[in-house]
Amino acid sequence: LARNPGEDEFHQAVREVLESIGPVLGKHPQYTDAKIVSRICEPERQIIFRVPWEDDQGRIHINRGFRVEFNSTLGPYKGGLRFHPSVRLGTIKFLGFEQIFKNALTGLPIGGGKGGSDFDPKGRSDREVMRFCQSFMTELYRHIGEHTDVPAGDIGVGGREIGYLFGQYKRITNRYESGVLTGKGLPYGGAQVRTEATGYGCVFFVEEMLAARGESFDGKRVVVSGSGNVALYAMEKARQLGATVVACSDSDGYVLDEKGLDVELLKEIKEVRRERLSRYPETVSGAVYVPGRRVWEVPCEVALPCATQNEITGKEAEEMVRGGCTAVGEGANMPTTPEGTRVFLEAGVAFAPGKAANAGGVATSALEMQQNASRDSWSFEYSERRLREIMRGIHARCRETAEEYGMPGNYIAGANIAAYTKVADAMLSLGLI
Ligand code: NDP
Repeated sequence: LARNPGEDEFHQAVREVLESIGPVLGKHPQYTDAKIVSRICEPERQIIFRVPWEDDQGRIHINRGFRVEFNSTLGPYKGGLRFHPSVRLGTIKFLGFEQIFKNALTGLPIGGGKGGSDFDPKGRSDREVMRFCQSFMTELYRHIGEHTDVPAGDIGVGGREIGYLFGQYKRITNRYESGVLTGKGLPYGGAQVRTEATGYGCVFFVEEMLAARGESFDGKRVVVSGSGNVALYAMEKARQLGATVVACSDSDGYVLDEKGLDVELLKEIKEVRRERLSRYPETVSGAVYVPGRRVWEVPCEVALPCATQNEITGKEAEEMVRGGCTAVGEGANMPTTPEGTRVFLEAGVAFAPGKAANAGGVATSALEMQQNASRDSWSFEYSERRLREIMRGIHARCRETAEEYGMPGNYIAGANIAAYTKVADAMLSLGLI
């Protein structure tokens, strides 16, 4: 890690995986002999590029673009693009590293990668976002392809951005290569359930985890962080399964509605009107927007962190446990700090780590690639059934692996070990590359 100074989030993600795989290395000396740990921590390729663009006032801006192609042992690099002012190389490396293992857990043939930019889409017009996406793709196009590297969305990159990126790729290459990006709109090669997949998948995973304890979502009080793509559809599915979702947040504060949030209204505000969460109480009497505070102060039985990394500290985890929280499903990537994770595990909270619980998004992206390759399009019901089966499979793999290695109920260890051994075995087969 000394050769990657200042990449704290990357170090944190690597440490979490390496702490889990001690027992594996003892059992499989061939991994150590082949230096799998060192190889797996070093990206195959890292691309950093300039993204110049012009705003509506004619001012020129220069952003930085990234694509980290981390590991292509199991298939083409696959992972989203994040547009957020906090994005640095270390952010993308942490996300790309996680992605290798997440993708392995899905059982689908996809390697791990991630990309993005420090561009802030908040407050930008559609035209500005389009010009930025076109400039970003004007460099990225030469590095990606349906058999090479297949980006998708993440924070700040939704259907609108994927559309502009795909348009520019098509224009530059003169190829209608649907499988080069996932998360596309339905009229041009998108897949049913991709929009819903990460949030729904997270709830399906937690549903399995609760069932293993003889419980269900029915009647549970749920708190969700974030109000973006993952959060909205986690709320929708949790409600469908009988839970009451009382609060969700954005980076300015949270909205609380003891009667249960109206998810259709939230979707209207966030997806259609592209407005802030603080507008919610204007339409719903009894609801309040609490500015400048963290949503974890609202007591709940099930917490679904769906915003960003390191958003639950050790102190907040303690407060959540005191407030009655018995299950956590990470919809976001690495939302719980190492201290927070320790508090949850010590308190016996059922804890679903992001690389397992939020794998439904990338799994459905792989299904989108399958549909693009066969020029097919599947129904919503069939796609949701496939997603549910995949999440059940991931849950079972994590649970069984944790038991096999003497850590029953520890889904972190189960996920890391199951994924690591899969990738490591495949790397051994491919030789020293
Ligand atoms: P969106 O951009 O749609 O939404 C992000 C949400 O999180 C917004 O409500 C945003 O609030 C909030 N947020 C973002 N950054 C911060 C921050 N630094 N502090 C507080 N709040 C913040 O992103 P997604 O829903 O797509 O992604 C959310 C998480 O899920 C990320 O960790 C992502 O990596 C992960 N994920 C996403 C997948 C997908 O399919 N989209 C797949 C797997 C994982 P505000 O609007 O105020 O910024």
